[in-house]
Amino acid sequence: MTSRIIIAVDGYSSTGKSTFAKAIAKELGYVYIDTGAMYRAVTLLAIRKGCAGRGRAVDAAALEALLSARPSVDVSFRVSGPDGTSETWLDGENVESSIRTLEVSGVVSHIAALPFVRDFVDRRLREIGARKGVVMDGRDIGTAVFPDAELKIFMTARPEVRARRRLEELRSRGEITDYAEVLRNIEERDYMDRHRKTAPLVKAADAVELDNSDMTVEDQMEWFRNLIKERKL
Ligand code: C5P
Repeated sequence: MTSRIIIAVDGYSSTGKSTFAKAIAKELGYVYIDTGAMYRAVTLLAIRKGCAGRGRAVDAAALEALLSARPSVDVSFRVSGPDGTSETWLDGENVESSIRTLEVSGVVSHIAALPFVRDFVDRRLREIGARKGVVMDGRDIGTAVFPDAELKIFMTARPEVRARRRLEELRSRGEITDYAEVLRNIEERDYMDRHRKTAPLVKAADAVELDNSDMTVEDQMEWFRNLIKERKL
């Protein structure tokens, strides 16, 4: 790459965005930012403070008050391993595993639909992106957060493939769940993400689509290397 740019990797849940985005960041020496982790951290805060929970309405006014309080809620990423892996911190606590539970997954799309939550996260993302040399994965990075990102990739995969991947990930972390519940959660989140009023999940007109249903990570890297060669980036 000749100059440092912003790479937006958007797409559906469990399409392997983070694996792919991390791999390309590593290859380019860029910083990887998992924007979904920010929404998950805000969701964890909302659950802990009694503003949200599974199967009940979100207390948006109480959450808005929490997010606008001073000193402000601090969500950040800290590098935790020699390979540049980073973990999510919420107000001085490492919440990397607490934000990945099915409880948080079941509520996060409702929290992420709130405009003041999106403003809160977007502000932080734009600060980080101003330094360039970043790969951000999410739902609206190429459409709403960085519409001028130099490279936009939109990831998809068949729902069944995604549910299998997510099930393996949850099981490897000891969460007891079944395929049907995971598939239902993925389909619900897709629906919510595509139909919300603020910054819905949609492929940017200038994004390149990557359907990785039948691709290995190495296949995807080869695809990426060809793409940057073609685009002369
Ligand atoms: O990427 P991940 O599945 O961890 O994201 C969790 C949720 O956060 C998504 O289902 C979506 O509702 C929300 N999200 C979003 N915009 C982003 C990233 C995530 O609305 N840029």
